[in-house]
Amino acid sequence: MSPDHEEEGRPAAIFMNSKRLGEFNFSPDHPFKPERVSRVYEMCRRRGLFDMPHIRVVEVEEAGEGVIESFHSPEYAGYLRQAGETGETTVEMLYHGLGTMENPVFRGLYDFSALSATASLRAARMVAEGAGAAFNPCGGFHHAHRDRASGFCYVNDIVIAINELRRMGARTAYVDIDAHHGDGVQEAFYADPGVLTISVHESGKTLFPWGGFERETGEGPGRGYNINVPIEADSDDEIFLLLFREIVMDALESFRPDIVVGQFGTDTFATDPLTHLRMTNNGYIEAVSTLHSAFPRIVALGGGGYNMADVVRGWTLLWAELAGVELDTGYGGALGGVLMGDASIEGSDLRDMRIVTSGPAKEKLRDKAGELIGWYRGSIRPHIAR
Ligand SMILES: [Zn+2]
Repeated sequence: MSPDHEEEGRPAAIFMNSKRLGEFNFSPDHPFKPERVSRVYEMCRRRGLFDMPHIRVVEVEEAGEGVIESFHSPEYAGYLRQAGETGETTVEMLYHGLGTMENPVFRGLYDFSALSATASLRAARMVAEGAGAAFNPCGGFHHAHRDRASGFCYVNDIVIAINELRRMGARTAYVDIDAHHGDGVQEAFYADPGVLTISVHESGKTLFPWGGFERETGEGPGRGYNINVPIEADSDDEIFLLLFREIVMDALESFRPDIVVGQFGTDTFATDPLTHLRMTNNGYIEAVSTLHSAFPRIVALGGGGYNMADVVRGWTLLWAELAGVELDTGYGGALGGVLMGDASIEGSDLRDMRIVTSGPAKEKLRDKAGELIGWYRGSIRPHIAR
């Protein structure tokens, strides 16, 4: 077989883009910046990460009809629409979490949410239809509830994507490695053994949304199909990867999904201003690559990440991994500083310097990780169907 043939035989890797999404603004001083989506696209493009025959960039220009309503209550969807049209908050909206500091109301809010959810839905469909991986960087809004906005999230594109995959007959697991607990997704499938839901996050003892403890394992028939891996503040790549391999990968190998939906927030990085972990993009990419080697069909969604430059580097690395493209580390330095206006991003390799916690602090973190693994093996693994 010629190299060309092999090239053509590779499953497609799809990058969901929407020029409109990057133009929205929550509020001037809000930590969530939709602009990072356009910047990830730009960096990938400049580094040649869309330039192979198996790679496709799909433009999402219009939101699908009824996408939001496929999960959210009609009442909540109505308030979202009204909020997006008027840009003004009413008392009723506040009952649904709309118009707060964390979830401000702004003109275009409904369109932003509907476009983002449509991109995740279409990503899910394409993977169900045979694509290898599809990435929607403007997705992963894991805190949105059926009836309420929360934690910068208005519409839960993840639940919408998972429901679509199941409708299309794919056995689906969810893996959330954002620094925050994926509470909205947990809630949606808490009593449902049809989806394995796993969230690895900074412990709710120190971070919003203050839950996601290991004993939340699902209810009724869903018991054992909801796995939380709360990690201690100050954990580094090594601790994260230990838990990822021993719990997340082990559970997935038992559950054997056809497709994995990943929420790949980058707010676990040491430089993130909102969280307290000490990870780098090395541990992050190693986790994704371990997952991707075992489960090649992935619907990858963005999520948190509040240090703009680091989000952009992390998701560029993520895309290279999902698309199976080697990064030429020397390339960016020649062009980047000028085009990007930020030499600190492009002038160096995309990889972070490693950060390692050591001494008694590390021993404590290891002990705690050992307890979590023991808990998983004794109380959860026996439930997961083989
Ligand atoms: Zn987060």
